[in-house]
Amino acid sequence: MNENRQMFSGNWSCADCGKAITELPFEPRDTSNLSCFDCHKAKAPKRNNNFERKMFNGNWTCAGCGGSITQLPFEPRDTSNLKCRDCFKNNK
Ligand SMILES: [Zn+2]
Ligand SMILES: [Zn+2]
Repeated sequence: MNENRQMFSGNWSCADCGKAITELPFEPRDTSNLSCFDCHKAKAPKRNNNFERKMFNGNWTCAGCGGSITQLPFEPRDTSNLKCRDCFKNNK
């Protein structure tokens, strides 16, 4: 099997930075909106690595042990059957 990706040679320019593009991994249909490798990379959606999980503060009661729950990683709709972290862990 040939896994080499075919490259298309040409003489295009990047619509974002104006840099010349001489090779593309695909044959462009619309050459008016091409992006060079750098701009393409910059436009790609970034993965948010420092994603902080939103915590909801409240004053709920654990249905298992009766202890108080002050923080949850979600906003509970039904507060009658909430469990604290320990009870949640123990209830497999
Ligand atoms: Zn560019
Ligand atoms: Zn509990």
